[in-house]
Amino acid sequence: MEQTLKNVPQIARKIITLLFLFFVIFISSACGASSEVAPPASAEPPTSTEIPTETPTPTLGPVALTASCVKEGGHIYCIGEEMPVVTGAPDLYGQQISFSPEFFCASDLDIRLCKAATEAFLLAAKEWGNYGPVEYWIMGTDEAAGDSMVDVFCNRRSERNDDDFNECIKHEGTFGDHGMNSYRELGAQWLEEKSAASTMGHNGGRHFNYHKYTSSVPWGFDNSYDLEGQQSAAGEQKTVFHEYFHTIQHSALLTQDWYERDEGMKPRWFTEGGAEFMAQVATARLRSSDAFTSSEIAGQGSFDFNQEMQNALFAAKESFKSCGGDLSDTGYGAKCDSYGAAYAGGAWAHAYLSHTYGSDVLLEVFYPNREAMGFEGAFMHTYGQTVEDFVTEFNEFLKLPLDQQMEILPQA
Ligand SMILES: [Zn+2]
Repeated sequence: MEQTLKNVPQIARKIITLLFLFFVIFISSACGASSEVAPPASAEPPTSTEIPTETPTPTLGPVALTASCVKEGGHIYCIGEEMPVVTGAPDLYGQQISFSPEFFCASDLDIRLCKAATEAFLLAAKEWGNYGPVEYWIMGTDEAAGDSMVDVFCNRRSERNDDDFNECIKHEGTFGDHGMNSYRELGAQWLEEKSAASTMGHNGGRHFNYHKYTSSVPWGFDNSYDLEGQQSAAGEQKTVFHEYFHTIQHSALLTQDWYERDEGMKPRWFTEGGAEFMAQVATARLRSSDAFTSSEIAGQGSFDFNQEMQNALFAAKESFKSCGGDLSDTGYGAKCDSYGAAYAGGAWAHAYLSHTYGSDVLLEVFYPNREAMGFEGAFMHTYGQTVEDFVTEFNEFLKLPLDQQMEILPQA
């Protein structure tokens, strides 16, 4: 482009440049700024000093700490109060954004449960930076309400991502493979058994430019369920923080390749343990400063950081003893594939790393280098040792007396 403009008078060059810029802006907005639309590779910045050569960095809007919730046709919908929501499917992956996470809860759930979950998530986004866009789908236990959620979800995918509606219904509506209805069926089953089990997860979405979460009922946000061993609302808030930390981790990987992303989340102890430890520490501090809102149906009961971490330590030691392995054996299907080894052991591994190298390096050094350096490289760069050496050192730490182990924990 520069070449062809060389001999054109200055004023004509300005006009052509302006027309070109207008063209790019027009295309971007007309197509909802989808990822397919990029300026032509040959585009060069305008040469005149009177025309700005850089688009200003947009200022990030604040993260609201209260959620506004409405009952829509077949579900409950919550977002951060007065926060904008994303339209279309622009590729904002890996960036901090001003858009609110969007929560969709089944209509058989109490609207206050949905609000409480959203507010915990917003607080986590405030804590670690607002990455996204996020859609968080909380299934209830009622079948018709669940079908309606699947409908809303698949319509959204069809409109935003040109996904096939019927294929989507088939995948999300049947049991298994992390389909949305699985979370509904499991919740219903646990309710019938009076068990307070729950399951939730970051279930991808990268190729559609969002983070997809699916969850069964987080019982602790609604004390009317009254199940055996039901979590407190504080416990659920910690879990929501854990989940949000997966958004941070996923945001450090921009690749759209499913296998690369799957590999990128390994090793499991590092990813799950990091999410767990960071969630425990952040929520403990926020509880002590009364940052959490509480609804009148919030599940009561204590949730104490030191006690939780001590329980995790016992669980980790017990798990490693019975599986006869260590952190390096905690992958899916490996001999120490258990909550105690991967999550609790991983959380303590992070407690140890954070105590030794500082609490900031995970977010400030490790994740910014994760994709470019790979796990081993980023680990070495951040912690100055190989993963293997660390695991050996951590095995020794696990043999110390309890008081010396508990001593390394940060105090809220
Ligand atoms: Zn997790």
